[in-house]
Amino acid sequence: MDITEKREKEKQTVQFMIALYCYKKHHTKKGELCEECEKLYAYACKRIEHCPHMETKTFCSKCKTHCYAPEMKEKIRDVMKFSGPRMLLYNPVLAMKHMISQ
Ligand SMILES: [Zn+2]
Repeated sequence: MDITEKREKEKQTVQFMIALYCYKKHHTKKGELCEECEKLYAYACKRIEHCPHMETKTFCSKCKTHCYAPEMKEKIRDVMKFSGPRMLLYNPVLAMKHMISQ
């Protein structure tokens, strides 16, 4: 898969997971992110863009190089834990792609 495409896909997945988390946990409107989650998403995007392992690794939460700051890592881990299993329900196609690429 093209590396740019891979980065884009990962961003899409992260955005979806954060949006779902925010909607359920912070009671924001669907498709909107609260300030905190917006920041987390912007941070995740930056990591994805600058990750040197994008070619070989599958997903930031699985990456051996912990390029996330501890605070952000905690947050994204929460998001993954919450949204990961729910993705199958809300966006099975994206979830499947995510699992296959692991
Ligand atoms: Zn939020």
